[in-house]
Amino acid sequence: MNCDEFVELVTDFLEGALSEEDEQRFVGHLTECPKCEVYLDQFRQTIATTGELTPDGISPDARGQLLAAFRNWRRQ
Ligand SMILES: [Zn+2]
Repeated sequence: MNCDEFVELVTDFLEGALSEEDEQRFVGHLTECPKCEVYLDQFRQTIATTGELTPDGISPDARGQLLAAFRNWRRQ
């Protein structure tokens, strides 16, 4: 996955709408591209501010824990 593809899939990812395969590729890109990691954080903050996604679209805590888990996995 490249950065363009990542950006295109961000919304679907946050809504939990990606297939398992796409989500793995998405998170895989996240672990190797700090720029997209920052982008995703900013995107989530924007959503939190504007309430762009529906309330049941995503649990930020759950996503945060997922990303934290992947960061830890990367360090090992
Ligand atoms: Zn990227």
